[in-house]
Amino acid sequence: MTADDSGIAKQPVQAPVPPGPLSSGVKIGRIFGIPIYLHPSWFIIFALITLSLRTQFTSSHPSWTSQQHWMLGIITSALFFFSVVFHELSHSVVALRYKIPVQSITLFVFGGLSSINREPDDPKQEFAIAIAGPLASFFLAGCFYLVGRFFHGDDLVTASTRWLWEINLALGIFNLVPGFPLDGGRILRGIAWGVTKNFQRATQIASTTGKIFAYLMIIFGVWQALTKNWVNGLWTAFIGWFLLSAAQESYAQVAVQHSLSGVRAGDVMTQNIPTVTRDMSIDEYVHEVLRTGARFHIVMGAGTPVGLISLDAARTVPRDEWTNTSIQALMLPLDQTHSTEPDEPVLAVLQRMRNNSISQMPVISEGHIIGMIGMDDIVRVLQTRMQLGHLAGHS
Ligand SMILES: [Zn+2]
Repeated sequence: MTADDSGIAKQPVQAPVPPGPLSSGVKIGRIFGIPIYLHPSWFIIFALITLSLRTQFTSSHPSWTSQQHWMLGIITSALFFFSVVFHELSHSVVALRYKIPVQSITLFVFGGLSSINREPDDPKQEFAIAIAGPLASFFLAGCFYLVGRFFHGDDLVTASTRWLWEINLALGIFNLVPGFPLDGGRILRGIAWGVTKNFQRATQIASTTGKIFAYLMIIFGVWQALTKNWVNGLWTAFIGWFLLSAAQESYAQVAVQHSLSGVRAGDVMTQNIPTVTRDMSIDEYVHEVLRTGARFHIVMGAGTPVGLISLDAARTVPRDEWTNTSIQALMLPLDQTHSTEPDEPVLAVLQRMRNNSISQMPVISEGHIIGMIGMDDIVRVLQTRMQLGHLAGHS
């Protein structure tokens, strides 16, 4: 996916929705420059899979030692997560080929999630990025199958590879289900986009299909839970519920993009640029903030802007040091700040704010600060435009 899921989920690829809980986790390394994270929920699923494999191996091969059951469970489980990373990397590599930056890959309870910084430029890219994942899973299924055939006399290898080729095959097939946010939903969106030439319409089609599929899974899961296997049933229903919220979220993001398309930084910025001088103490600065209500200031030195300071930065200094610390020590020097130009699309500004965890940027034109743009300014414009969109009958 492009943001997808190999397990199952895909998520916000895009800017406007702030990063959710999935952006947290333990970083385990980088591949092709892409940081790979383990979400806390991953540890639970890793333990569960290892345990269930151990149980499965114990009943199918009672002659093995307990140590062998455990070791094979752990190795197989680790190879499964390698498979998930491989699936995600395949999306990422195709995205990078189209010069679409990939922010991170996170492994969590449902599998993997690639955070890709923007939507593809055309239907072909969308299609290629999405289909890479299932193809990668099918490729791995084939590899594990062949390894098992090659070592067919070795029970340990065949027990492990058999589970691995089956699970990769299942992953590939599951991801082809044509509901957004699964890979299949993205493939469907790529096709619908190519046919309708309308990205938003295509997203609507893929997201509606995704919701129908999610409801079917919930209904089937509940029915299964009530009539036969309640664990499998609840699990199926839970995945359905997850897909449902992911489909809704993805659609909301596209609605945001649609509302903000054509809006530029210069349209949204405030021209009121509060300034303070660099020799001011933090104590004086906090009083200035209380007096004016502005939480963000340009720091001036000898008549020219030298940095940026915010109330949040002041909070990082213990209170008893406020009177003898100057804001110069605390400000972010101008050459280290992110800034924008009046012509930059607001969506791109929002994306950069999100990627860098900042909420304000100076707007610079020909070397001069001509305004400030904040996350709250963008949200205000967004709310207005979405309301007007509803009034005009097209959301
Ligand atoms: Zn995928």
